[in-house]
Amino acid sequence: MVFSSALIENAVNEFAKLPGIGKKTALRLVLHLLKQEPAQVEIFGDAMTRMRRQIKFCKHCHNVSDDEVCTICNAASRNNGVVCVVESIRDVMAIENTQQFHGVYHVLGGIISPIDGVGPDQLNIHSLVERVKAQQITEVIMALSPTIEGDTTIYYLSKKLKETPVKITTIARGIAFGGELEYADEMTLARSLTNRLPLENYLQQGK
Ligand SMILES: [Zn+2]
Repeated sequence: MVFSSALIENAVNEFAKLPGIGKKTALRLVLHLLKQEPAQVEIFGDAMTRMRRQIKFCKHCHNVSDDEVCTICNAASRNNGVVCVVESIRDVMAIENTQQFHGVYHVLGGIISPIDGVGPDQLNIHSLVERVKAQQITEVIMALSPTIEGDTTIYYLSKKLKETPVKITTIARGIAFGGELEYADEMTLARSLTNRLPLENYLQQGK
């Protein structure tokens, strides 16, 4: 792609770094911004900068938040005794969209994957164990992808939580998930949350 402006080229290159955005789409977006009033483009740029600079992660569940504690952990209507363990904030969004879960979350920030160099220490596992020990948590629901990495993580977490009296369940397995939680449709996800199983049953199913 040949540009007659380094400014345009720069902007196109930045957009093209985003996932799913090729050079052509990047150029279309930049040309669109070029048609806007400068003040409008400033609002756009400012929203990105502020989002990145000011975002916080909830000190309880590691979900994204504007404050120290996220709106879910802070809500009086939520059951703090039921913790749903998920891989990422996208999974929180997917489960929230079902409107069927009224507990709280714990975002691991990934799953154990030796191939990708992700071990337990890089994940928010210690804080989960501490949380279960310190608070009145009755149930931990493992809502992780039905993959080898997901199963490994569930197994590791269940060992870590063994010394606590907490009940561990997993979302129902074997439903057409399409691999990852965030891609499951709301109905499927809601059903697999409702039909969750005790951990022992889940491990038997996997054999
Ligand atoms: Zn939170």
